[in-house]
Amino acid sequence: MTLTLRPRRDQVGLSDGQLLVDGKWRPAADGRTWTHRHPATGEEIGTFAVASTSDVDDAVRAARRAFDEGDWPNSRATTRIQLLHRFANLLREHAEELRGLQALDNGVPLSFSAGVYATSVGAAADVVDHHAGWVDKVGGQTLPPYQGGDHLAMTFREPIGVVAAILPWNAPFLLFAQKLGPALAAGCTVVVKPSEFASFTVLRMVELLGEAGLPDGVVNLVTGPGDPTGEALITHPLVDKVSFTGSRAVGRRIVEASAGTLKRVSLELGGKSPTLVFPDAPDVGMAAMTTMGTVTMGLSGQACVAHTRALVHRDVYDQFLGAAELLAGMVTYGDPFEPTTTASPLINTRQLERVLGFIERGRDGGARLVCGGERVAGDLAEGNFVRPTIFADVDNGMEIAREEIFGPVLAVVPFTDEDEAVRLANDTEYGLGAGVYTTDVKRAFRVARRLRAGTVGINGFQIEPHLPFGGFRQSGLGREGGQSAFEAYTELKTVLMPLTDEMM
Ligand code: NAD
Repeated sequence: MTLTLRPRRDQVGLSDGQLLVDGKWRPAADGRTWTHRHPATGEEIGTFAVASTSDVDDAVRAARRAFDEGDWPNSRATTRIQLLHRFANLLREHAEELRGLQALDNGVPLSFSAGVYATSVGAAADVVDHHAGWVDKVGGQTLPPYQGGDHLAMTFREPIGVVAAILPWNAPFLLFAQKLGPALAAGCTVVVKPSEFASFTVLRMVELLGEAGLPDGVVNLVTGPGDPTGEALITHPLVDKVSFTGSRAVGRRIVEASAGTLKRVSLELGGKSPTLVFPDAPDVGMAAMTTMGTVTMGLSGQACVAHTRALVHRDVYDQFLGAAELLAGMVTYGDPFEPTTTASPLINTRQLERVLGFIERGRDGGARLVCGGERVAGDLAEGNFVRPTIFADVDNGMEIAREEIFGPVLAVVPFTDEDEAVRLANDTEYGLGAGVYTTDVKRAFRVARRLRAGTVGINGFQIEPHLPFGGFRQSGLGREGGQSAFEAYTELKTVLMPLTDEMM
């Protein structure tokens, strides 16, 4: 029987979405809406407002007023701390509902959003709690006068102002928390724009911020696609900072658009992260399954930090391929609400065509297709499902080893020694994550230090709320998580004052 998810809409309580401007929910001024089609079935699931340029202007002005005239930036530390903790607890209380909304948005199965920490509601709540902890701990310095004399020199960290937070569709819980947590903790006001492919989850998270007691205008929500909604936001002169997570192409556009008013910009972009598997790996089979898991389970490889390039020593190459193929056979598709479903469809038909194009060119280019490479047929033929795909004997110069495919495709490249492995790993335009599998502790740290990537996991990989996360090179600008993320929502101010009646 063909899969249908329409009944899940009522079960989860999804309702059509509006914009939030200055504490009031309202439709778009021109009445325009977007209809969301589910990636697993192609069915219409719900509609939400498309914010026009004038709606975005209203939202930015509301955030501007809340920043320039409101109490939030100068509120008592406990006001912000307690609000963020209340919000984190509301997220935890509504975890099941939020996971259901996400399944209706992007098709990520409940088995994954419940079981894998980084993509769970609990992780998002932990991120918010973590940032609440910085509110009263980040300060400036007091410095001695450089040229002698009798004056005081000191620095302060002040909130950066109005933040435009633009989110992708693949991990709305975590990415909402990673932006809104530090921005609100620092005293900024925000206009948030979710992806048009995962808006219902974010709409509910914004409602929960209201239930936590956030004053009107401090967070405003504009839904809609890049054109017109995103463009209106990134080009708005009253926005001080754009904090973006998404594709490299849109990241470049944001840097370009920011030039007009020299906005601050943080970018979390894509990757082509390598896993390096040495013959002395603690368990080559587990290394293969973990790597293949990052490109198949849950998000079907639609994760920025999926380890989509396996660099494997020739001595353990066949063993690695065998175990990766075994894992590929365990992936199951279907109703994301069923506990037996382990992986999601591709987000839309455009992405489906794109991934199939990479696979076709990989095959034509001479890489050996070990498994997968085609769509899932039968009852799921209406969905954007592609079978887990492994390419062996890949040359690192091939397109499938260089481009972020954002689908369930692993490229496996052989190597002979450590120097070659490091050279291949760094031969990429990206630099988000990397993994090293070895039991030689000296090699582990030697290689970790030589890799040009923001996060290197030795014999495993984790994203944790207190750790900086972000990319070298074209994987981004800046870091999320930890103190540096909080500081990225502040400006550093220097104040000087004489300690006598003499002027300086
Ligand atoms: P995307 O770049 O297509 O869209 C991201 C957001 O930007 C969406 O809200 C979209 O509506 C908006 N947008 C599109 N055009 C815009 C414009 N001209 N101006 C302003 N906003 C615009 O990305 P996506 O498909 O939603 O997400 C996938 C990408 O995100 C991948 O490249 C992935 O690697 C990356 N990603 C990175 C991280 C990280 O932390 N580094 C995390 C998750 C996803």
